[in-house]
Parts: sequence; C-alpha cells; structure tokens
Amino acid sequence: MLMDCLAVLRAAHQPERAAQFGMKEFRQGLRGPLGPLLPPASGRSDRFDSMRLFDAQGLVRDAVQDLCSEHLVPQVALEQYWPWARVRAEQEEQHLFDLMRRLAPEDYRRARVLLGTHAAGPVRELRRQWDRLWMRFDFFESVADWPWCQVDGWWYPCPVCRWPMRAARSGAQFDVRCEAHAPRGVHYQYTPSKGPGPGELTGTGKAAVAVTPLPASSDHLTVSRPVWRYGTLPVLLELQLRNELVGLPFVELEMWPGEQRPDEYDLHITVAVPGKRTRHWRVDAKAWESVVALGKALTARPALRKGLTIVLPDHQYSERYFLAAQVHDRGVKVTTVSRLANRVKAACGAPR
Ligand SMILES: [Zn+2]
Repeated sequence: MLMDCLAVLRAAHQPERAAQFGMKEFRQGLRGPLGPLLPPASGRSDRFDSMRLFDAQGLVRDAVQDLCSEHLVPQVALEQYWPWARVRAEQEEQHLFDLMRRLAPEDYRRARVLLGTHAAGPVRELRRQWDRLWMRFDFFESVADWPWCQVDGWWYPCPVCRWPMRAARSGAQFDVRCEAHAPRGVHYQYTPSKGPGPGELTGTGKAAVAVTPLPASSDHLTVSRPVWRYGTLPVLLELQLRNELVGLPFVELEMWPGEQRPDEYDLHITVAVPGKRTRHWRVDAKAWESVVALGKALTARPALRKGLTIVLPDHQYSERYFLAAQVHDRGVKVTTVSRLANRVKAACGAPR
C-alpha cells in the first residue's frame, strides 16, 4: 500500500526530486506535517502543508476521515484500505437532506434543532425528544458498535454537541476529547478505576465541564458521523448565533426558512434601525474539516446565492481568508460566528 502511495506522490513531483524520494523518507515524512512531502505550492499557499495525519499517540486523526470524504478520494481506494467509504458518507448526507426536505415547515425546523441538541443519548430519551419525528429518521447507530469512543465499557458525550468523544490510550490513561470541540477546550484525561464502574474523568481544557459517563450499550444511540458533521455541527453554530443575537433591539431572526429554497441559507438576520438603511445577513453555517474542500464544493454549486454569508467555527478564523478568496467572485462572504455576532451588534447599537 505504501509503495502504491509513494508512486502516486513521486508522479506529482518534478522528475529530479521524484528520483530522490525513497521509502524511508516517505515513511518518516508521514509522521510529521505533510509540507515537506508535497510538491512546491504553485502560487498560493497549500492548505495541507501543516496537516498531520497522525496524533501524538500515532493513531490516524479523525480529521483524515473527513478529509477523504470531503475530497472525493476514489471509492476503489477506500474499499480496499478504508472501512468507512466516502460514498456512504455522501449518500448519508444526501439522504439526510432528502428526508428533511420532505417534512412540513414546522417539523423541518424542529428536526434541525433536534439534530443540534439531541444527536446522541439513551434511546428512551431520544425517542421522547424526537417524538413524532423519531420513526422518520433512520440515521441513528448504536454506541456499542463504536469501539473508538468506549473506555472500560463507558462512553462520554461531548458537553457541546453530545456526540461521543474519542477515547485514545495515552500510557496508562486515556485522552478523551471531542474532535470538533477540542479547539474550544473540550478535552479530558481518563484514569481507569481499580474496581468496577467507570474511572475518573479529569478536565484538561477550559471548556471541560463535568460529564456523566453512559454505558456503551446497544440502547445508547448516536447519529452517524456524516449526519453529525454536516447536520449537527452547523446547527450548533446557528444556535450559538441565535443565542447571541436574540432579544437585541431592532434585530429580527428567522431560523431555517429553507423549506421553499432548500439549502440556500439557514438563518436570516435583519437589522432595521429607524432612520438607517436596513441591513440583511443571509447565513449558511459550515463545519467542514477542510475549507479547501468546502471551497471546491461551494464553487461547484450552480446556484449560490449572491450576498450569502458563510459562517465558520471560531477556531477556523485564520482559514476564512482562504475560503473568502475562493468564493469572492460568486458574491459570497465568509466570516466566523463571533465576528458576525459582533457586526450585527455594532449595526444595531448593542454593546459587544
Ligand atoms: Zn463536541
């Protein structure tokens, strides 16, 4: 497999450089940032230069899985080497939006909120919350089938998204963290207990509030990974924005008006201060791992609304320029949640 990959990489380099490229250098290069392995970036900086494939424990980072799915890694390669085929991810994402579009407007909005607030948990609780929508969605999977989030038979929901946090062994302990919210400080250390029952979970990040361990049993369910990434995470960004802006003077918020115009925008913010020009923001939140792939997907869209504002998580603030440059000529702006909230507050005269 490595020989195949090395051949592909050599083919991407100039012949002189390709000739020097040996297996030893390749293997070593895979352990660090990818920059030294890649052909020199032509013109603009390459976003993969600083990308790392493995974490400190030598395990493949979760982000790699999302990169494959976002970057159209050929299906045949995935079938051969990767258990989680991209095709499945894309089909699931499509499936999710097809299901959502069939809902009545009120149910559609309800389902969007539930994706953000009830993406995982005991089946009884999920069934109660999703209520009449429960039977309409089949994208829940059993936590019992997900070994990567289990430690001593328990799993820990992320305090932000409630999705299972990853548990990776680190010496005698485990690092437990939410892959999407670790940059916000959602990470912990787990020390196994001597007796029965779960061990001790100690917060190591600034957003690591106490979380209750749940048994990794088949009656604990969670939305599939693609539904989490492309369904749950953007909804959480939109809810975060709503919570910051709701109740401000002269501000009107419309959430998920998209049933007539699917996918166009998810949040419409209007600021109408008397005597001033009315301002509008039509917002679409995106939580892709790769802004490169996101940029490609957006530019490939035939109908991209002019004046749309793409909102990224705050930790991607340094990547917003890259994406903005890609979609600038389509009349689309790019910002982060906190930046947009501040702009709206400034427009309505509220303190930041
Ligand atoms: Zn999370």
